[in-house]
Amino acid sequence: MQNSQWSDTLVQLLSLALRLESEGQYDIAKLARAQADAISRRAAWELNLPNDKETLASDIERIAAALDDADLQSAFRAGASALTSGRVPLIEQTPHPYVCRTCGHLALTNAPKKCPTCGAWGETFQWFPPVYWLEALDPAEALEQLRKTPLEVAALIEGLSEDAMTRPAPDGGWAIRNVVSHLRDAQGVLDFRIDLFLKEKNPVLEMKQVWTWAKDESERPPSTREIFETYLSTRREVIAKLETIPLADWWRTGRHEEFGVVSIKQQASYFAAHELTHLPQIERLING
Ligand SMILES: [Zn+2]
Repeated sequence: MQNSQWSDTLVQLLSLALRLESEGQYDIAKLARAQADAISRRAAWELNLPNDKETLASDIERIAAALDDADLQSAFRAGASALTSGRVPLIEQTPHPYVCRTCGHLALTNAPKKCPTCGAWGETFQWFPPVYWLEALDPAEALEQLRKTPLEVAALIEGLSEDAMTRPAPDGGWAIRNVVSHLRDAQGVLDFRIDLFLKEKNPVLEMKQVWTWAKDESERPPSTREIFETYLSTRREVIAKLETIPLADWWRTGRHEEFGVVSIKQQASYFAAHELTHLPQIERLING
């Protein structure tokens, strides 16, 4: 399909959804919204463009230059400048976006009290979280997943030799050892933050670029299996700590340098959902 046809189809689908919703036909509208999302995601996935820093920064600049919203433009540019210098931007530089579900008006930082374009109530705007992991799991689901994932990792790496687990990916990327190290490192951050939440009110959650540590071999147990064992034993402690937190307290918040206001519930959901994205990576490394 040509680009213009894509966008025509998308607009048609979203217009259909909007009109169906105004008639209370939510079950049909959901099909149109899902199909619009599927079409966009598939087209982006099939484009398969390069994701090196330079390409990303110049693509951001091209998008920013075409915008007439100055706030959004400067957020994009702050993001590109952080990206170019090997950082991720702070929440002040790239605030949360909110989009009016009725007319598409976009606001940064907070939804307005009322939409300046169509008059919709601010509470009806859609919040775009930086990553769905924050909202993926409720407390019971997050605990359940945190219990389950180490068992799935154990099953995946069962019987593999240390050689097989330290062999880098064909493209020179992470070996299974790096993935297991990464899961352990990420959990270390979660563990540290739970302790902070237990000690302090509204703690500051420092930004950690955990993925940059995965190939760092200092302070690592010698074998991948031992790294996994420490991941497993800390997991038991993490779950035990989370279980001491009364349900209502899971909504207590801290100030995350990268993501803004974040609750214990969102942190647990984030880490539990994040781990799942690394399981297919281990699977691909095994199947070569
Ligand atoms: Zn509006």
